[in-house]
Amino acid sequence: MDVAEKKCTACGGNSFVQATDFINLRPLDKKLAIGSEKVYTICSDCGEVASIKVKNPEKLLK
Ligand SMILES: [Zn+2]
Repeated sequence: MDVAEKKCTACGGNSFVQATDFINLRPLDKKLAIGSEKVYTICSDCGEVASIKVKNPEKLLK
């Protein structure tokens, strides 16, 4: 994923780190679904979460 052109809305910094908590997000009506991990893009200067991306959105549709 390209994060080079991102800019932190909180501090204006442009260095980011990506992280995940390894907890899968599951569809609201399908508690037993495997779901998908989320990837957080975090400003490495102030810790602002710039975006939360679902790694495999198609897994939320099944
Ligand atoms: Zn920041």
